[in-house]
Amino acid sequence: MARKTIAGKNTRQSLKQTGRNRLKPGATATRFAEGRRRAYDPASQHESVRLKKPKARHGADTKAAHGELPQWTNAEIEEAFRRFAAANPAPRTELQHINAFTLLVAVVLSAQATDAGVNKATPALFKLADTPEKMAKLGEARVRDLIKTIGLFRTKAKNVVALSLRLIEHHGGRVPHDRAALEALPGVGRKTANVVLNVAFGEPTIAIDTHIFRVGNRTGLAVGKTPLDVEMKLMEVVPEKYRLHAHHWLILHGRYTCLARRPLCEKCIIADLCKWPGKTAFSAPI
Ligand code: SF4
Repeated sequence: MARKTIAGKNTRQSLKQTGRNRLKPGATATRFAEGRRRAYDPASQHESVRLKKPKARHGADTKAAHGELPQWTNAEIEEAFRRFAAANPAPRTELQHINAFTLLVAVVLSAQATDAGVNKATPALFKLADTPEKMAKLGEARVRDLIKTIGLFRTKAKNVVALSLRLIEHHGGRVPHDRAALEALPGVGRKTANVVLNVAFGEPTIAIDTHIFRVGNRTGLAVGKTPLDVEMKLMEVVPEKYRLHAHHWLILHGRYTCLARRPLCEKCIIADLCKWPGKTAFSAPI
């Protein structure tokens, strides 16, 4: 099924376009990329972005890792999230699920795996078992067979059946709306609990995955040595009205724009606000 990026474009099409217009380090943004940025944010019409050379970018990463970036002002944070909201008003998880239970299982399966990889395996699994009772009845061996394309499938199959049994035993077969109860389930940690609380119960939690951890540190928005540090910092700085969707905006930003090896600063909607020294924003002729 076609997935949407922050820009609302089909992901494959978007990445294909990006590849076709990829810049060499040091090259100025193309007319195309600049046009994309203007479409997101009319306020940035007079700016374009240039990437620094790889060596300088490495130095920039070191600075970011040491928390040496300038602070964001409240107005800049507000503006960044205003733009995320304008570009994608209702972001959704890319993990396919049917109900709170299948969401919980999908998130458990997504540890150290991609959402796309999980989505390939779960339709067959959820067709047979979309409740804890059906999952427990399916049994570990059958679950293992159905999810064998996902990394760490043996441990995950064991956890999925064990958490199903615990849900039946302690929560009447329902996913609890409670952090401590969620984190007591086999294979469920703080990140998984945060995703379930956010997506299934509408809580303004911010789950920190590898993308958000990178974006927080690289941009200087939420600097921290551990995921919990970054989560606490984001909860402190993200304006309350944006907290519900902050997790998805930042995850999608990290997944499709602020990439680990080669961030696409030329198409970034917060490039002028970002504190990463690896990019340079400058005034360009109209
Ligand atoms: S947030 Fe934007 S400008 Fe900053 S590093 Fe990431 S892609 Fe580049």
